Amino acid sequence: ASVTDALTGAHNREHFDTQLRAELSYARRHNTDVSLVIFDADHFKKVNDTYGHQVGDAVLIQVANVVRGTVRSEDVFARYGGEEFALVLRGIDVEGAGAVADRLRERIAALKIPTDRGTIGVTVSAGCASLSTCDDKTPEGLIAVADRRLYGAKHAGRNRVVTQG
Ligand code: GH3
Ligand code: MG
Ligand code: MG
Repeated sequence: ASVTDALTGAHNREHFDTQLRAELSYARRHNTDVSLVIFDADHFKKVNDTYGHQVGDAVLIQVANVVRGTVRSEDVFARYGGEEFALVLRGIDVEGAGAVADRLRERIAALKIPTDRGTIGVTVSAGCASLSTCDDKTPEGLIAVADRRLYGAKHAGRNRVVTQG
């Protein structure tokens, strides 16, 4: 239970850090690729401010459920921060990660979350990085690239996935 986030059931940040390090070592040893996706709920503060923290929590739970229902069991899924999630995709290059992230993005955008004022939706933005295309092949290096691309996705208008730049 100590590796799990209580709200969403995703792995917690601590476990994620351990797993990311292990997956990078594995990929380098076996000469295979591995990708990291970081995604963040768009304008989430507004959801809380408009509908309350409980609705915000319900959104995070549903987002996590979509991810769990979409990714493979060997992929590492974690709650990376408040309304940020991370995925480590074993054996997947950055284009593949972009495709996975875009499928998630679409499924999350299709969610209808009930509130006492009708149903609401949520979108996410994502940044992807892969071992084979990162100069700095450390966990911190991949996180920095994925974060930079997540920022790029936000800047470009949100509800999108960025795999370059
Ligand atoms: P952006 O599209 O740029 O990401 O905008 P944003 O509003 O999502 O970003 P910002 O970082 O301003 O706000 C994040 C919000 O997420 C603020 C914080 O209260 C909320 N949040 C973080 N953790 C939780 C949680 O566990 N439950 C709920 N309900 N809200 C949370
Ligand atoms: Mg955030
Ligand atoms: Mg956000």
